[in-house]
Amino acid sequence: AGAQWEAGVEVLQALNRSGCEAYFVGGCVRDALLGIEASDIDIATSADPEEVLRLYPDALPTGLKHGTVTVRRSGFFFEVTTFRQEAGYSDGRRPDDVFFVRDVREDLARRDFTINAMAAGADGAIVDPFGGMDDLRARTLRAVGEPARRFGEDALRIVRCVRFAARYGFAVDAPTWAGVLACRDKLRLVAMERIGAELDKMMAAGDPGRAVALLLAASLPERFKLPLPEPWLARLRQIEGAAGGADEAPIGMSATLRKGLSRYLPEHAEADLRWAALFLAGTAAPEEAEEAMKRLHFAGKRIRRIGDLLRLHLSLFKDSDPEAWRRNWTIGVLDRGTAAAADWQALFDSPGVRAAFGVPGELRAAAAGWTAALPAVRVADLALRGDELAEAAGSPPGPWIAIALRGLLEQVALGELNNDANSLRTAFFAGA
Ligand code: ATP
Ligand code: MG
Repeated sequence: AGAQWEAGVEVLQALNRSGCEAYFVGGCVRDALLGIEASDIDIATSADPEEVLRLYPDALPTGLKHGTVTVRRSGFFFEVTTFRQEAGYSDGRRPDDVFFVRDVREDLARRDFTINAMAAGADGAIVDPFGGMDDLRARTLRAVGEPARRFGEDALRIVRCVRFAARYGFAVDAPTWAGVLACRDKLRLVAMERIGAELDKMMAAGDPGRAVALLLAASLPERFKLPLPEPWLARLRQIEGAAGGADEAPIGMSATLRKGLSRYLPEHAEADLRWAALFLAGTAAPEEAEEAMKRLHFAGKRIRRIGDLLRLHLSLFKDSDPEAWRRNWTIGVLDRGTAAAADWQALFDSPGVRAAFGVPGELRAAAAGWTAALPAVRVADLALRGDELAEAAGSPPGPWIAIALRGLLEQVALGELNNDANSLRTAFFAGA
């Protein structure tokens, strides 16, 4: 990360030498002050895009309309954006117009929260017109300017408010929270895809239990069909009840619910595993979960991954009889794959999450052993190929082959049959 900052400073200095102002801005300044590694380093400058392109002829014009070009330096990429303001917001979701401004303070004024509205020069001096440093110290999330106006301009900021409060464990300043509540109906205007990206970042970092609790505190899931299916919500309300109910103060609103919820969410896990835990906590059927993820524009690969994990879990516990677990697990792994099995192990890594879902620790350990001992997990692992089976049977190949091989695979995986061509052929004829 040090090398990336150094390369960034060189970009600032190059812009400075050509007579332009240039700063690090936004999330990277915030995270640097918090001592956290920033996800990406953004630069704002008084130079217009043409000047930046003149200085860096191989820069990529990634967002010229918005004044953004992407500069590459020492192998790192920096989005360099001309100081700008936004105007219009007649539709509550995107500015009608952007225009370039001369002063970095005007650029900072368009940003959402004070902690996101700071700039840092090449010499390390911080430009902080809205008290972002004080709010960082006080661990408070506060809108820049008048909250209701700012949330009204772009209602996505409501979800961002929840995301940043949860990621850093910050309290939401009371007038800012009042602005969230006053403007929440405008969230309808925001594209699901943008909301999905924010919810996903929310699940990936910090305290997703707190994030979900804040979303519930603002009644966002119910009002906007955020992807929290009905049974899920009912279950969350139950957890809330069990945890003693939410208190009324807007900022502390989530404390009790949060505790209840956080039990269900693996703390050190990827976003996909947390989503899976969230859906399981709400006893959402896999189809419901997949529907929800589609609405959020999740990539198909992720939807399948999370869906497979949910299905594997459900198939394991479809009988309460522990005698059936080995069989259920084995067939589940054949159906959903060993990647889903590894995800399941990771999801129930923590004793707290196991307790919340009632997964015995011995079962997790046993399941790991069962997976490792599987003699075959795909029909390709069988010692008999489909064409060999067709030849032995003297029948033309067809869909029957896949069905027959799958039956043999199950017997092999369950340890009922040896994985050699002879045994497989014999078992096939015995079963056919
Ligand atoms: P992260 O580390 O999660 O990416 P970030 O602060 O960098 O957090 P981004 O979404 O990457 O968040 O946005 C970069 C910066 O642009 C923010 O810090 C903020 O100053 C500004 N910004 C982004 N989205 C909005 C918005 N909807 N309204 C106002 N300002 C915004
Ligand atoms: Mg960012």
